[in-house]
Amino acid sequence: MKKVLAFDIDQTLNVAKTPITDDIADLLIKCLEHFEICPISGQKFDQFLVQIVNRMEDRGVTKEALKHLHLFVAQGTQYYRHNGTDWEQVYNYPLTDEQVAKISETMEKAARELGFWEEDKLAPGDEIIENRLSQVTFSALGQKAGTEAKYAWDPDCKKREKIVARCKELAPEFGYEIGGTTSINAMIPGMNKVFGMTHLLEELHVEKSDILYFGDMTQPGGNDYPVVEMGIDTITVRNHEDTAYALRGILGVI
Ligand SMILES: [Mg+2]
Repeated sequence: MKKVLAFDIDQTLNVAKTPITDDIADLLIKCLEHFEICPISGQKFDQFLVQIVNRMEDRGVTKEALKHLHLFVAQGTQYYRHNGTDWEQVYNYPLTDEQVAKISETMEKAARELGFWEEDKLAPGDEIIENRLSQVTFSALGQKAGTEAKYAWDPDCKKREKIVARCKELAPEFGYEIGGTTSINAMIPGMNKVFGMTHLLEELHVEKSDILYFGDMTQPGGNDYPVVEMGIDTITVRNHEDTAYALRGILGVI
């Protein structure tokens, strides 16, 4: 039997960048009784709270149960765990200011050259490029764009594949991954979900075979693919409804 259930967030646990539903929150709370639960995503710590933890608290999760929830933030380059009272950061591997500046310039140049720099479509105060400390993220329509607009922008990933190809020419020293609906994450090569999952193995004292991973971007080039390549058992989902269906199956046979 698996000891750990690990999850991508965007489109695996939620509709991209929105809080999880009551249904997913209830299922995750139930899972905490049997498994260590590890969301791992490119997003920042505060978004893990807004999208997952606060919703589980709304649905009555106890502080004791939260000790079994492990937050692998920014693709697992930061790890937070709950000590029964509050969240504590266990480790953090940030990019340098120079690396952040180089990646930001590269992404903007590539997107402008290709005609995909949509500054005019941003909400006031929103930004296309965001420093997430351990990685830099390009979100074509910013953070605040509506879900429908985001889904419509690049449903087949073709725009982002072109941007990534150009970024690789301009700054090949960094790694680039497509994720979410409009996003590209850039990081030091190897600072992808493999980094996070490798640290997860160490921190939780488990083997690869103890983990079951859920993700929606498990195809080559997707941000969940490195987990597949590691040889971790993976369930590919289209959306959070698929994940809920699978979790019901797992919880039903315990
Ligand atoms: Mg995803």
